[in-house]
Amino acid sequence: MTAIAKTLRNAAELADAGLIARQQRDALEQVAARYAVAITPALTELVDTADPDDPIARQFVPDAAELVVSPGETADPIGDHAHSPVEGIVHRYPDRVLLKLVHVCAAYCRFCFRREMVGPGKASALSEGAYENALAYIRAHSGIWEVILTGGDPLMLSPRRLAEIMADLAAIGHVRIIRIHTRVPVVEPGRISAEMVAALRVAGAATWVALHANHPRELTANARAACAAIVDAGIPMVSQTVLLRGVNDDEVTLEALMRAFVECRIKPYYLHHGDLAPGTLHLRTTIEQGQQLMRRLRGRVSGLCQPEFVLDIPGGHGKSPAGPSYLSQASSVFEEGELEAETRYRVVDYCGDVHLYPPAP
Ligand code: SF4
Repeated sequence: MTAIAKTLRNAAELADAGLIARQQRDALEQVAARYAVAITPALTELVDTADPDDPIARQFVPDAAELVVSPGETADPIGDHAHSPVEGIVHRYPDRVLLKLVHVCAAYCRFCFRREMVGPGKASALSEGAYENALAYIRAHSGIWEVILTGGDPLMLSPRRLAEIMADLAAIGHVRIIRIHTRVPVVEPGRISAEMVAALRVAGAATWVALHANHPRELTANARAACAAIVDAGIPMVSQTVLLRGVNDDEVTLEALMRAFVECRIKPYYLHHGDLAPGTLHLRTTIEQGQQLMRRLRGRVSGLCQPEFVLDIPGGHGKSPAGPSYLSQASSVFEEGELEAETRYRVVDYCGDVHLYPPAP
């Protein structure tokens, strides 16, 4: 395939690029009219068009199944609105807030948990007035230790604007951590310029960058170089991965992804159970599958490579570890007629074998 130089944004462009069959055009145009589509040149190059189950295409090329809303799926699956005291802020936990600066991304994930809020046609960025209100809210709440820039993708901002925002936040004495959630180093690594890296660093607060990537092939040489530029600047990185059916729901792929993160000096942080976003059932696994994969991962890779499996509780009640649990209370063990160990625990080792942990003396 000849290299595609532009971001693809509609079904006709996807068909011209060979990412969908021409006869799919009309059906997928309806999907594109409902949920934003954008596939960057870096991603188009990564798709193997000969593979009908290509894990990169599955994440970014629209599917007619997205028009089917399943029971439990909602427009605001993690309950942002319920915890938004002012525009642009989500204050769910006492010590941290989300600050949603932009509503656009370089590429749109088909499973996006904010798919009803991001994309062209939505407000493109916080207005100056809304931004000032959001800053005032953060200033007024001295318990806010961490501000998480999310969106949309905050690295869609220009380096100049990002640097201004970082400086505004770092000037608030109680804000010590600024965390940036982004997919840009993977989907558009060229945006991670020296100016962008410089904008991430700010005096007065520590910056952390959380990279969203779901398949080891996303960590191309260019993506790795973009991450290296960030880490070399002294900015620690963590990862976020969404567990997706047909993309990374097998232990070999997950292992390769987690190893790739660690090789890039990115600490695996979260493995998310897919949120109940509308039209995403075909990409969701079950919670039991996620737990099973976590067990297998523990048997295959070092602790450095272990993410935490989490789910967001619908309604805005926050994130919760989703297991599996390795420790359970053992039922009473009787030996020679005596109660031996009420306080024992059952512990599962990395091979899945169960052991009893000795009772307290
Ligand atoms: S990068 Fe994040 S906000 Fe943007 S489309 Fe993907 S999941 Fe949604």
